[in-house]
Amino acid sequence: LLTLESIGKSFGVNQVLNDLQFTIDQGEFVSIIGPSGSGKSTIFNMIGGLLTPDEGSIVLNGKRINGKRGSISYMPQSSSLLPWRSILNNVVLGQELQGAVDKDKAIAMLKKAGLEQFVHAYPHELSGGMKQRAAFIRALLSPQPLILLDEPFSALDELTRADMQRWLLDIWEQHQPTILFVTHNIEEALFLSDKILILSEKPAAIKKSYDVPFQRPRNEDLFLEETFLQ
Ligand code: ATP
Ligand code: MG
Repeated sequence: LLTLESIGKSFGVNQVLNDLQFTIDQGEFVSIIGPSGSGKSTIFNMIGGLLTPDEGSIVLNGKRINGKRGSISYMPQSSSLLPWRSILNNVVLGQELQGAVDKDKAIAMLKKAGLEQFVHAYPHELSGGMKQRAAFIRALLSPQPLILLDEPFSALDELTRADMQRWLLDIWEQHQPTILFVTHNIEEALFLSDKILILSEKPAAIKKSYDVPFQRPRNEDLFLEETFLQ
């Protein structure tokens, strides 16, 4: 479904990515982990068409999409809710772009995420974790075949995070979208994904690709953590 070929990206003298390559198959759930500042969000911004790679190609469904917006739902790392729109009108944004707004469904999802009282509130009235859940719902409400989630649960408490993880897995099992997920939490990556891509230090490339066994391993018998910390 998605291939990154020999991607290089620098910001001025700051060379962030060098010869980055990976492929994601349709319906896979892939997590990317790597040190802070290694370029994970930059990779997402390039796949989402917000940044253009200096070198290499991003190929989605056989088409080169460098610098273009493909059929992708993207939840960026920092909450991108529009301050002048209510929460309801924010979460249906993706649907609006596709010309198929379903407010009842949006309200039901907000309710499920514990945001029932905030349907008509504005982003500044919500906590960080609430805004994160609203942005998550927005990404889920505009069902694209490829969903990019950049640390979607980083601001949530453990219980709410567990609920959201379960919900995401349910959606994935039912609709089989392809999901690319960034997290700093190795346990979360192991719990959710089929495959984990580990980035090296800058300039980053894929240091290791780890196929998660069906029987998910426990953290302590995991060589992955060792690899990650090396
Ligand atoms: P974190 O885990 O902290 O979110 P990350 O892996 O997502 O980190 P990026 O946000 O991709 O890291 O940043 C990688 C590098 O690229 C950093 O050195 C950052 O300063 C630089 N960078 C990212 N976006 C830009 C930009 N628009 N302009 C200039 N430099 C940028
Ligand atoms: Mg980031």
